[in-house]
Amino acid sequence: MPIRRLSEDMVNRIAAGEVVERPASVVKELVENSIDAGATRIEVTTAAGGAALIRVSDDGSGIGRDELALAVERHCTSKLERLDDIRSLGFRGEALASIGAAARLAIASRAAGAADAWEITVEGGEQSPVRPVALSAGTRVEVRDLFFATPARLKFLKSERSEAAAVSEVVRRLAMAHPHIRFSLSGSDRMPIDLQAANGPDARIVRLAQVMGEDFRQNALPIAAEREGVRLSGFAGLPTFSRANSLAQFLFVNDRTVRDRMLLSALRGAYADLMKHDRYPVVALFIDLDPGEVDVNVHPSKAEIRFRDPGLVRGLIVGALRQAFAGSGPRTSTTHAGATVSAFRRQGARPARPTGIMWQSAYPDGNTVAVGSFAEDEQASFAVSPSADARAAVAEPESANLSRPLGAAVAQVHETYIVAQTADGLVVVDQHAAHERLVYERLKRAMDEHGLASQILLIPDVVELPAEDAERVAARADEFARLGLVLERFGPGAIAVRETPSMLGPIDSGALVRDLAEELAEWDETDTLRARLDRVASTMACHGSVRAGRHLRPEEMDALLREMEATPNASECNHGRPTYIELKLADIERLFGRR
Ligand code: ADP
Ligand code: MG
Repeated sequence: MPIRRLSEDMVNRIAAGEVVERPASVVKELVENSIDAGATRIEVTTAAGGAALIRVSDDGSGIGRDELALAVERHCTSKLERLDDIRSLGFRGEALASIGAAARLAIASRAAGAADAWEITVEGGEQSPVRPVALSAGTRVEVRDLFFATPARLKFLKSERSEAAAVSEVVRRLAMAHPHIRFSLSGSDRMPIDLQAANGPDARIVRLAQVMGEDFRQNALPIAAEREGVRLSGFAGLPTFSRANSLAQFLFVNDRTVRDRMLLSALRGAYADLMKHDRYPVVALFIDLDPGEVDVNVHPSKAEIRFRDPGLVRGLIVGALRQAFAGSGPRTSTTHAGATVSAFRRQGARPARPTGIMWQSAYPDGNTVAVGSFAEDEQASFAVSPSADARAAVAEPESANLSRPLGAAVAQVHETYIVAQTADGLVVVDQHAAHERLVYERLKRAMDEHGLASQILLIPDVVELPAEDAERVAARADEFARLGLVLERFGPGAIAVRETPSMLGPIDSGALVRDLAEELAEWDETDTLRARLDRVASTMACHGSVRAGRHLRPEEMDALLREMEATPNASECNHGRPTYIELKLADIERLFGRR
């Protein structure tokens, strides 16, 4: 389509705003232009974090000689036809004009099929005449001395390093959504990017692994779902493969990277009972829908969007992710086994850190072991030492069970861990964590099927609590009753517990009520009733579970393993800690130098 000026009316309807905030926003606009131009190769070079120079070269369709002048004018675009049908990344015709007003801009381009290449420059808004230039194909845009014309803005630039990091982040995000394009970034970055084009059916995960690290590929489940014309695809990290912040949550709508509150909250919902509240999942999810079903014209840099039917999208995400986790059978993050192996190895040579090309920038906290649950001393405790009080009950493995995913129980060590033998390795189960998950899933199933039976206490348990806690707990008595916990207010600072869920067996109702009071203080009132009940069930499960330190007979151990295999989400406890780890024979052999 030719470049033309938007009508006055259209100009007034587009979300006006400054698109050039910092080098990274310039890079975003230029690379998006290259993608819109159908490029298969995009090279970005920067100097001084992009403040001194940004150069973007592509092999896209190019701009014809007579269109160059129009390309740098405000509100001139070859893309926008209708605001309710935006299929390109750009559409406002603002970026090049804004950049030309704030910096020294030079655009050299050779339109596909044209005999020559042409160049135009703009400095502080002043256009040069178009002149011939040497360029074999595509477009090369150079932006020098960003904000030289607007010194006030210059002052807001951060350090070269943080501007460079922001540029790198922008390139990585765009690359994730466009695996077929080869991307490179060099210059101010200490970690240049060079991502080969990925093709074929695995293109997406190959690119995601290039950007997010090989670990992600090994610890993520593929997601594919569709509802009423909205398609969800991509990969969701296992709940045990979590992070301490939300930086590794990559969400795309029609291949546009977005930061959307509704989507983030849907993610929280999907992982709600698989992960502790202060952990964040690692995901790269792509939503594709008819452009008319989403408004991208809300925010100048288009990071925010508006869905016509947010409920539909939310339901799709929560449903698809939960189903993926529930259906994945026993599976725990490989990172744990890695951490454990490293712990065993610590006396000897330190294992090399993984060195994916993007590793450090993908994980700015430098946390290569993505889950913090294996603290140093915890790891050490896996080295079974024959100390006086460490009793290990050893059993003959039940041969029929050896081929099962979690194997045949052979021993209980420290009255806390079950050791099982599998076809090609060994499994260590944290009996409390595992049991907690099983009880939780049973509670939820009972809640869905027939409600929870309760058991009447002969003498009600009176639990003393601070007045406001007692108040909060009493106010939710109806909801607790659905779960078989019947309680009522007993004076200003106490609660009387009359019935407890029979499934939990005899429990310390005081401890349970106090935990619930704490849980309530953090309740998010916008959660659905079901989500809240799930959280109560999770707290209850913790109280009704086999605590560490209980001796288990071999049959009990095997029964626990079999139930884990049959239970959804059994790879992690309700707090997102893994319930078991697996060591392959190969790993063990490596530890002993046999490989
Ligand atoms: P928009 O992308 O919103 O259309 P821009 O100011 O970014 O606005 O670009 C103006 C026009 O210049 C685009 O519509 C496109 O026709 C042309 N253009 C910009 N960059 C490129 C490029 N790398 N390759 C081909 N055409 C380009
Ligand atoms: Mg653009």
